[in-house]
Amino acid sequence: MAEESFDVVFIGGGPGGYVGAIKAAQLGMKVACVEKRGALGGTCLNIGCIPSKALLHSSHLYAEAKGGMEKHGIKIGSVELDLDAMMDNKDEVVETLTKGIEGLFKKNKVTYVVGHGRIAGPGKVVVELNDGGERVLEAGAIVIATGSESTPLPGVEVDEERIVTSTGALDLDEVPAHLVVIGAGYIGLEMGTVWQRLGSKVTVVEFLDRVTPGMDGEVSKQFQRILQKQGMSFKLGTKVTGVDASGDRLKVSVEPAKGGEGEVIDCDVVLVSIGRRPYTEGLGLETVGLEPDRRGMIEVDDRFATKVAGIHAIGDVIRGPMLAHKAEEEGVALAEILAGQKPHIDYDRIPGVVYTDPEVAAIGKTEEQLKEAGIKYTVGKFPFMANSRARATGQTDGFVKMLADAETNRILGCHIIGADAGVMIGEIAVAMEFGASAEDVARTSHAHPTLEEAIKEAALATYTKTLNL
Ligand code: FAD
Ligand code: NAD
Repeated sequence: MAEESFDVVFIGGGPGGYVGAIKAAQLGMKVACVEKRGALGGTCLNIGCIPSKALLHSSHLYAEAKGGMEKHGIKIGSVELDLDAMMDNKDEVVETLTKGIEGLFKKNKVTYVVGHGRIAGPGKVVVELNDGGERVLEAGAIVIATGSESTPLPGVEVDEERIVTSTGALDLDEVPAHLVVIGAGYIGLEMGTVWQRLGSKVTVVEFLDRVTPGMDGEVSKQFQRILQKQGMSFKLGTKVTGVDASGDRLKVSVEPAKGGEGEVIDCDVVLVSIGRRPYTEGLGLETVGLEPDRRGMIEVDDRFATKVAGIHAIGDVIRGPMLAHKAEEEGVALAEILAGQKPHIDYDRIPGVVYTDPEVAAIGKTEEQLKEAGIKYTVGKFPFMANSRARATGQTDGFVKMLADAETNRILGCHIIGADAGVMIGEIAVAMEFGASAEDVARTSHAHPTLEEAIKEAALATYTKTLNL
């Protein structure tokens, strides 16, 4: 078997691996990217960000057509759901985008190797090709970008038909009458929203006493209130002890997290969304003496180097938020490091967005984190109810909450719940990247009437008074 030699081999073609591979090639390296899925783009493009956003958008249109437009004086007769067509559209979006990356690989001269990559010693990756046979890649540097998988819940056996992870929830062939979601995080609330809009009754069971536990507390509370108003029900502080799938309907046994009397919930589909864990199965880590930590993560330093010379790791498989844009930043930064440059990622400036309606977006510290760290801060808040554009479009749910250093007024965090929050958080990301104070943002001219004016007002409120409230 002839060995082929590369400067760098990425194992995994998700947002970390494919973006890193393109950047490394652009910096003049000879690059291979090994992906076993048969399509590039990883979890994000194939079974994550993109298909979920396609369904969120389609289901939003359906819900609007079913009654969301009447207040604007638009009456639509009967509205029918064609779930197959909705799924076909989602699949087409995914296929176009994943094929697009193959095109980018060709353009940037990245060698795409389709198969399962296994580290077979320092500087050596053996690929079991999907089409049969093996290919041996000699690598100056190996990058582990193998991503993550859904965390299993003991006692709940996933079959991806009735008991599903996000993967099955993106592909149900009929609308479940009752969907039980386990875990009130990103996946549970996004996919719960999709199916609720399409007609399911949705019950969310969450172990902790709040939804989206990592988020700013005030935002979490408001978020739950809004979702409840939309019809979602929550069982907080509750754990699932098992799911009985022997009958026509599923029987979910739950009990209070702190102990006490349990109950059984009948439903048609259960979504397990209690988090994701790093994926390193069959990767051959033992051949180089690498061992994941107790959470399954590969430990790296701030240059993404593992303890084994020549082996690096990026994306969901290492510490930090499991987000596509975080993995991408790391892919680029690592390529630059391998090219001798000195990039830097500030993990406090990576936004997170839940794409529900309204959206929830956050960047930087939460109020709870600032309190815990003993940092003195001021809070500026502005509700969309007082924003003229939100009034005009009827999207008045939510608020902007800005946190600024009490002494310097530098922005420490911003939390937005409201329409287009995911777009608006970009302004704060740029401001924070430039070390802006809230006053810098408040003194920036914001077009009128826009939702962004709520950001300006919240910024004002951190050091002086709001103008429109
Ligand atoms: P992955 O995207 O998981 O890619 C790793 C790839 O490696 C996979 O394709 C896998 O097949 C391949 N692989 C693994 N082992 C091997 C091997 N040995 N040989 C060859 N190939 C291998 N993030 C956001 O920022 N925004 C969102 O809106 C968003 N929505 C999401 C929705 C859902 C339902 C899910 C599940 C996730 C979502 N995420 C979102 C998270 C995002 O998908 C991940 O953070 C991101 O994909 C991580 O990128 P990665 O490159 O580290 O890993
Ligand atoms: P998550 O970490 O966002 O939420 C998991 C939730 O499950 C938490 O609220 C947690 O307290 C709860 N939980 C944990 N164990 C439980 C148990 N035994 N019973 C009941 N509840 C339990 O995880 P997720 O929703 O599975 O998503 C995984 C990751 O994928 C996210 O953290 C995020 O990084 C990424 N993602 C991002 C987006 C986005 O950016 N819009 C969308 C989907 C997924």
